[in-house]
Amino acid sequence: MAWVVHKFGGTSVADADCFRRVAQLVAARAGDNLAVVVSAMRGVTDQLLGLVERAAQGVALGAEIEELRTRYLGTVIELLPAPSAAVLREQFEKDIESIESVLKALSLVRSASHRSRDLVSGFGEIWSARLLTALLQSMASVRVPVQFVNARDILIIDSGEMGPIVVWDESRRRCRQIIGEKFSGIAVITGFIASSREGLPSTLGRNGSDYSASIFGALLDAAEVEIWTDVDGVMSGDPRRVPEAKVIGAMSYNEAMELAYFGAKVIHPQTMAPAVAQNIPLRIRNTFNPDHPGTTITAAAPARETIVKGVSAIDGVAVINLEGAGMIGVPGTADRLFGALREAAVSVMLISQGSSEHSICFAVREDAADTARRVVERAFAVELEQGQVQRVEVTHDCAILAVVGDGMAGLPGSAGRFFRTLGNAGINVRAIAQGASERNISAVIAGKDMTRGLRAVHSSFYLSAKTVSIGIIGPGSVGSVLIEQIAAASERLRSQFNLDLRVRGIASSRKMCLGPSRIDLAGWRKELERGEPADIERFVEHVQTDYLPHTVLIDCTASQDVANRYAGWLERGIHVITPNKRAHSGPAAYYHELKRIARSGNTHFLYEATVGAGLPVINTLKDLVVTGDDIERISGIFSGTLAYLFNVFDGTQPFSEIVREARARGYTEPDPRDDLSGMDVARKAVILAREAGLDIELDQLDVESLVPEKLAKASVDEFLERLADFDAPMAERVARARAEHKVLRYVADVDVRGRSARVRLDTFGADHPFANISLTDNIVQFVTRRYSANPLIVRGPGAGPDVTAAGIFADLLRLCSMLSGNED
Ligand code: ADP
Ligand code: ASP
Ligand code: MG
Repeated sequence: MAWVVHKFGGTSVADADCFRRVAQLVAARAGDNLAVVVSAMRGVTDQLLGLVERAAQGVALGAEIEELRTRYLGTVIELLPAPSAAVLREQFEKDIESIESVLKALSLVRSASHRSRDLVSGFGEIWSARLLTALLQSMASVRVPVQFVNARDILIIDSGEMGPIVVWDESRRRCRQIIGEKFSGIAVITGFIASSREGLPSTLGRNGSDYSASIFGALLDAAEVEIWTDVDGVMSGDPRRVPEAKVIGAMSYNEAMELAYFGAKVIHPQTMAPAVAQNIPLRIRNTFNPDHPGTTITAAAPARETIVKGVSAIDGVAVINLEGAGMIGVPGTADRLFGALREAAVSVMLISQGSSEHSICFAVREDAADTARRVVERAFAVELEQGQVQRVEVTHDCAILAVVGDGMAGLPGSAGRFFRTLGNAGINVRAIAQGASERNISAVIAGKDMTRGLRAVHSSFYLSAKTVSIGIIGPGSVGSVLIEQIAAASERLRSQFNLDLRVRGIASSRKMCLGPSRIDLAGWRKELERGEPADIERFVEHVQTDYLPHTVLIDCTASQDVANRYAGWLERGIHVITPNKRAHSGPAAYYHELKRIARSGNTHFLYEATVGAGLPVINTLKDLVVTGDDIERISGIFSGTLAYLFNVFDGTQPFSEIVREARARGYTEPDPRDDLSGMDVARKAVILAREAGLDIELDQLDVESLVPEKLAKASVDEFLERLADFDAPMAERVARARAEHKVLRYVADVDVRGRSARVRLDTFGADHPFANISLTDNIVQFVTRRYSANPLIVRGPGAGPDVTAAGIFADLLRLCSMLSGNED
């Protein structure tokens, strides 16, 4: 039976519970030819290296050693029966003695060699492996032999410039000798550590246990190597930095290699080589969620799910730029430069040279920056002096951001998208490199921009273009229905249209709730109740997050204060949707300002629901305008309340009574004068006038108010009571109309040609469209050059939370389709 290697990282063996979990996972797979490679308990390698550094500075380390002892022996005692715990304790104390003697020597000479570092830092793996061995041996469910294997007895390495080089022949020979061909049961092997040819302690470098696992996979001709860690697999970005990262189901060795090289800590870059050589599949899995299938890494390029598999970044990078006209066309400059760096053992992470050869730019680790500068200055001393090379410039605190994916090869546009995204996020690119394999594009940016850059690039390649972060302001009657509508439709929108609508903030005038990823809309009222005091600045800050591609704020208030903020939002790249008429019917200058900002910033400003609720009034008008029609006149009934009042008012019942009844049924505003004054209708008329190209201010409208002047200042109750005093003139108007076989209708009339607009109570013949509407309908009639003898009419329910919310929702979906259109 072929071997299978399982590797458990430091996070998987952090404490007693973790060891138990690992032991269970191993026990469930117990059988022959099972190799288990373990890391040191989380943090132990760091602690051991810390001891070495501090001993070399002469610091006394009793307390720190005691800390290691308490943690390890505490875990041992918790997990093992007393007799085997005693054995492990004895072994541990012996190791501590050796460590202490090394530390003592270091503190005498006040320096630490890499050998002493290798020796001391390797104990963490030895302790873990011994503990896991004893734990498995103590388990009744493990019926096969369990053997502890010190990798230093098998794994022989040379140290090379680019890291350790495995001496395969010797290692294979020893592997056969120690593990043996007829091995049965479980071998628990120390990760990370190895020996030099001379038999001295060595290591595979930080995070090297992954590499150990694949080396042992190769030595044992394993069928598979499974690397168990604390995430579900290799993700499309470091989950601590990119909250939207997703698990990559399958990837190629090359992709994994590039991602790891550019900072994806989940797997060590060198892990791939032995696996590639023997075509051993690697799997990354989660110890804490073992049912998840994880990531499979193989040679075969998996089907292209996405162009880019992942993004990763390394910070702590310095960029060195060598500039000078003297380098143009001179052969061997690069060779001289990199030869000198090589001799000084400075490893170069990225190189970029313009085809003009005027400058060469390369990136190194921050801690090598000074050496690199010195080496380069020395190598080009003559040229610097003679002015053929002008300067050697070092830029500190940089980061390298890389996108990786086999799918980018031969597919135009990925580099364009990468740099466009960085540009849109306001991130300056200092240097660029793209491997000839086209599998990786990397950019050097300022270190402070790293997380923002990662998120922006990740979302542009990985998220649906239609992922939208939504903030809803004003969850009143319309706003709350909108939330319910979005909740009810979201699953369908996601599955049918790949549309991910995330309501991430809801704010009332008093409170707000913010969801990191999204608010669970099923319980939004409770969330809001439990929420924090409203703070609109913070609200906007939260909703517009840099890891989601698009932000929209939906203003369902009638507030002037909120409307005044639209300009700022649009300027920040936030789309605005609103049924609030304030911004459009206020000063024309503000209206034009908003339109200008939206146009220049490529943001969208949608307000269909300001007129006729959900009826397609604004969009119909926009279509007429953009297709080149001339609007001559727009008229109609723009208020559901006033439509109702005059539908009912035929003279049989006094007008005041109808108003009182309508109010009781909730058809009017709490103060009916808000409807009767005609100002709401006038605002809508202004909006339509402006949309048709007629610049008009609200106070230029001729508005007939139905509120008797004497009652303008009265309280609501007083108004309702005394309105009856004014029934007579109304009764007279309706009687006169009836005598002419006409009806009364409260209408707006925008004469675009004549550049005027008015709002008034007028009479219409029984066959006029305005005379024939049902209860609270709105009706809008467009007379245009194309629709002249027979005007275009939009008619239907024009008030009520359901249809208004639906109008806003339609704007939201319209926005989404515009956005995805812009993306690709
Ligand atoms: P282990 O102790 O198991 O070796 P590490 O801490 O070395 O675990 O690596 C796992 C961690 O790598 C994850 O917890 C995650 O934070 C980080 N990481 C960075 N980039 C990625 C990525 N692209 N995918 C998954 N994890 C990543
Ligand atoms: N324990 C070692 C380290 O911390 C190796 C590993 O965990 O992979 O670097
Ligand atoms: Mg690791």
